[in-house]
Amino acid sequence: MSFRATVLTLYPEMFPGTLGQALAGKALGRGDWSLETVQIRDYATDKHRSVDDTPAGGGAGMVMRADIVAAALDVNAGDDDPRPRFLMSPRGKPLTQARVRDLAAGPGAVIVCGRFEGVDQRVIDARDLEEVSVGDYVLSGGEVAAQVLLDAVIRLLPGVMGNAASGETESFEGNLLEHPHYTRPPEWEGRVIPEVLTSGNHAKIDAWRREEAEKLTAERRPDLLGK
Ligand code: SAH
Repeated sequence: MSFRATVLTLYPEMFPGTLGQALAGKALGRGDWSLETVQIRDYATDKHRSVDDTPAGGGAGMVMRADIVAAALDVNAGDDDPRPRFLMSPRGKPLTQARVRDLAAGPGAVIVCGRFEGVDQRVIDARDLEEVSVGDYVLSGGEVAAQVLLDAVIRLLPGVMGNAASGETESFEGNLLEHPHYTRPPEWEGRVIPEVLTSGNHAKIDAWRREEAEKLTAERRPDLLGK
């Protein structure tokens, strides 16, 4: 059974979006994963089909209603659904490669995309939504964030990445950023490819790459080295 993604959103036409192209798009075409979008507005109950209301306690913006988000969840990912349920949220735990790997080994994901100021806290609590963030900045909606999460997962699904080995030395695997890459031409604008890479000595190449990865990580992301 392949990885199943269900995305609840007010903008289903934003999907598959980037996920319909390249690696993820080809995998979707092959059936390595499947995507279902749910228009949250279809679960509105009043004649204006409203999904949001003003924040309790006052303040700017609107809040997505708990009852409507819950109705959309219950119909499309009920109690017996084994998939983890997420709410894309800047308040969530930052997404990591370890979590992505974990998800890729599972049955899929149900993802709620927020809009406006966010979602009524009660549905987050009542439906046990795991809040996940794609970084310390605020997007206008969860759709791009959901595509980030799914893109990261899909490339790890069995059969998706042509060269499976390219996953192993990658950034965040083993707490290091990846070493720099070079390709032909051997000289460009007076810059040459580091000699060791053209030496054919694989032990030396591995050592050089390791060293570069460590140097880069220490410079840019010393926080990773401590992990
Ligand atoms: N008022 C909220 C931000 C709302 S942004 C706050 O200050 O925390 C609107 C929606 O965009 C959110 O509900 C969420 O679904 C999505 N979003 C914004 N930034 C995000 C991020 N960094 N990661 C994941 N989702 C994000």
